[in-house]
Amino acid sequence: MRVRAEGEEDAFAKARAQLVQILREEGIKDERVLKAIGLVPRHLFVPPELEGLAYANRPLPIGHGQTISQPFVVAKMTELLEIHPPCRVLEIGTGSGYQAAVLDAMGCEVFSIEIIESLAEQAKERLEKLNFKRVKVKTGDGYAGWPEAAPFDGVILTAAPPRIPELLKNQIRVGGRLVAPVGVEWQSLVVLHRVSADRWVETKDIPVRFVPMRGHVEREVSH
Ligand code: SAH
Repeated sequence: MRVRAEGEEDAFAKARAQLVQILREEGIKDERVLKAIGLVPRHLFVPPELEGLAYANRPLPIGHGQTISQPFVVAKMTELLEIHPPCRVLEIGTGSGYQAAVLDAMGCEVFSIEIIESLAEQAKERLEKLNFKRVKVKTGDGYAGWPEAAPFDGVILTAAPPRIPELLKNQIRVGGRLVAPVGVEWQSLVVLHRVSADRWVETKDIPVRFVPMRGHVEREVSH
């Protein structure tokens, strides 16, 4: 880790508090979500040369053609999950580990799957170092979810599938929600609320742009 000038951490904390205020003004209402965003040092989840931009409300590249989502979108998706501790959340697309850290800061146990091994390894190391102990990361295709840890109070996809895989719908606890960007190229945030063992209610939220979900979902035949 590089040595920082005195006061640098204070400057990051100040920038983070300003970001929280911006998210509040942009319409994030759940104070628990705002508090979690205020706790996670986003500058330690982006490449060092971009840390100066870490508290701007914008997505940033994290290597391998992937991005850390815009803070507003992270906050929005977390809010849409409507989770309360004790909660278990499945995340597909660990990326930098930032969204997982926000969910940990919300008081949830997090099971996160990343298809690119080096990103998964880096995220795991970073989350351990920063003491986000409730997150488990594994390398793999999130298409089939994490059946050994199911059911989940919340399922969050941070890579976009053309449609929501059935296997994931079935890992939502009755009463729980799945939040995902669904579509090709441009997506809508979709909330799937499992209201009973065999009924899911879908609502659409804001338009978003995410990287596509890779792996098995690309080979699924459309019906
Ligand atoms: N949540 C992340 C942002 C993720 S970007 C963060 O907070 O930084 C989307 C990630 O999804 C990328 O890292 C990409 O490699 C991963 N991904 C794409 N398809 C996947 C799949 N089928 N299973 C698991 N991860 C996948």
